[in-house]
Amino acid sequence: MKEGMLSNDIIREKMFQCPNCMKEYTFDEWFNMLDTLQMTDGTPEKTKTCTCGHRFYMDKPKHQTYYKFTHHITVLHWLFNKLSLGRYCKPVQIDGMVSAVHLEMNHGFGGKPIYWEVMVFADAENKLTDSDEFGYRLESYCERRNYSMELIEADHKEYVDWLKAGKYLIEYQLRKKDGKLCRGGWILSLREEYQRYFHNVCITDDQKIGWNLNDVTFALEKGGLR
Ligand SMILES: [Zn+2]
Repeated sequence: MKEGMLSNDIIREKMFQCPNCMKEYTFDEWFNMLDTLQMTDGTPEKTKTCTCGHRFYMDKPKHQTYYKFTHHITVLHWLFNKLSLGRYCKPVQIDGMVSAVHLEMNHGFGGKPIYWEVMVFADAENKLTDSDEFGYRLESYCERRNYSMELIEADHKEYVDWLKAGKYLIEYQLRKKDGKLCRGGWILSLREEYQRYFHNVCITDDQKIGWNLNDVTFALEKGGLR
């Protein structure tokens, strides 16, 4: 394939989608779209605005679920702590969020367009132990991308259900320092086959933002267009 053909293909490919009216844009169309100035909490911000009135990035549709749970340290965790640090490790409370969004930018690169994504965020920074040279951070690599709002809603629900059912694992990340293996962080993984028996997941808030037309209209009235 000639280079010119490839770049023409990229130019023709639809790279952005308005999550409100579902209109797709190529890179060219995107760059030629007018920048409009919006006021966000008194601060002017430039943003691309679709002909339907949707403000890209600012009105991005979201479905977020906030959760808390107390992670109970298992015998294995306890032993690891005792041997490596010479002390006990207490159960720890974890705050997190399951968040589904329309990405507005195509993540299907070359294949079928993908605009929807769900991610699980977990935060237990500085809660897992008193101190550590790397800093303890609980990370989560749980994410899925999907082709439609309906599919991503199902993915979102599945992650929430797994959390509620205690279908997760928290694992150590090991890193080498001065020739010794040290714990360099923690990872939260969600999977159907995992099962923790001592769990207490509490969903504190469940909200959809801009998942339908009415919410976008509301956002426009509030923010002021052009
Ligand atoms: Zn639109």
